[in-house]
Amino acid sequence: MARTDAMILGAGIVGTSVALHLARRGMSVALVDRASVGEQTSYGNAGIIEGNTIFPPAFPSDVGSLVRIALKRASEANYHISFLPRVLPWLLAFREASRPERLAETARLIRPLFSRAVVEHETLMAEAGATHYLRKTGWLKVYRGKKSVAALAPEFELAAKFGLPLDALDMAGALALEPSLHPVFAHAVFWPEAASVSNPLGVTRAYAARFAALGGVILSGDARSLHRTGNRWRVETDEGALDSAECVVALGPWSSDLLARFGLRLPLAVKRGYHRHFRAQGNAGLARPVLDAEVGYLVTPMEQGIRITTGAEFAARDAPPSPAQFDRIIPRARQLFPLGERADGKTWLGSRPCLPDSRPVIGRAPGQAGLWLALGHAHWGLTLGPATGRMIAEMMTGVPPFCDPAPYRAERFS
Ligand SMILES: Cc1cc2nc3c(=O)[nH]c(=O)nc-3n(C[C@H](O)[C@H](O)[C@H](O)COP(=O)(O)OP(=O)(O)OC[C@H]3O[C@@H](n4cnc5c(N)ncnc54)[C@H](O)[C@@H]3O)c2cc1C
Repeated sequence: MARTDAMILGAGIVGTSVALHLARRGMSVALVDRASVGEQTSYGNAGIIEGNTIFPPAFPSDVGSLVRIALKRASEANYHISFLPRVLPWLLAFREASRPERLAETARLIRPLFSRAVVEHETLMAEAGATHYLRKTGWLKVYRGKKSVAALAPEFELAAKFGLPLDALDMAGALALEPSLHPVFAHAVFWPEAASVSNPLGVTRAYAARFAALGGVILSGDARSLHRTGNRWRVETDEGALDSAECVVALGPWSSDLLARFGLRLPLAVKRGYHRHFRAQGNAGLARPVLDAEVGYLVTPMEQGIRITTGAEFAARDAPPSPAQFDRIIPRARQLFPLGERADGKTWLGSRPCLPDSRPVIGRAPGQAGLWLALGHAHWGLTLGPATGRMIAEMMTGVPPFCDPAPYRAERFS
């Protein structure tokens, strides 16, 4: 039986960042996963470090969108009808949190954490030799309808209040930034303070390698074996039992499987999402991720090719893939960018771990001494991994956290 100061369950971008931050503070730490580092949700995302995020994605407020989604004609969302009764309470809570005043409150609450997103990655990347993955080229959102400019006013107002720069561009301005785009949109918004990475898996692996170089141990094991023994936590690994005084649950969309066993019930649902890779035609290319906002997909340059990622699918986490959204997205994506042939053989599916108020849970687990939670990062696990790692490591080592942890407490769901 081995002992460490802390064990981290889950080696996605969130758990790996937590482990690295604790190891940097001199703790002996084990990172435990049943699969390889970074190969689940953290593998297939769009690679954006969304330091600019103001409003979280909201429940649709217009009847037209709801009808299109209900009729399965929407490109931005899909659902499995058999899953709707199970997810209904979550959807109702999500709709409630999508009222304009709640969204404005969320924007204010999450800003301190998001404002550190890029800089916390830069710190870890510099140490981990991963800076070559980072592109500080912002991201571009293109809008096909002229009407949507007015709808952006609340976001622009808050951006000004938060001191977040943006450029509202006409088509010519956007094409100057991304000359390979076709002129099928009316206007665009450029967010210069967002960043992106060319290989999310490469980033997580680099942080894990840095963690190991600092003496951290990476073990294979099933988190569901977690139990208490005296005043410590124990998990079974391929190397035998591992005991720690402190245990951090960072199991992404699998977190509830474990927490329910300790009586911790969080309203964690998944918004599933897919990606496919394509080659670009000729010399076409992109310098940054581009969101086709009303159509609801992202096109983003990766080492593996041009990655197209989809919006949300409401379905059971483990249900078979149903990438029907691509049938509607790919023709629209070809209108926007000269996509060539497929660069991969299969469609990737991942599950964004989402809480209805769009805030992650970061902090102590209620009523369980030594148990910590770092989960529910929804659309922003890559964005917030290092900032989360720093915040929880500061809390665990008795240092005042760099931003107020209160908005992330699990107790808000009690
Ligand atoms: C299509 C798509 C696009 C996205 N784009 C972006 C983006 O551009 N920017 C951004 O910031 N975020 C994005 N996201 C969200 C982001 O990918 C997630 O929020 C993030 O990956 C979650 O990280 P995690 O470490 O919490 O979970 P995961 O990466 O899923 O890690 C959880 C780990 O727990 C392990 N595990 C599970 N069960 C067990 C068990 N029983 N025992 C041991 N180990 C276990 C898994 O093997 C896994 O390694 C996107 C997501 C999707 C699906």
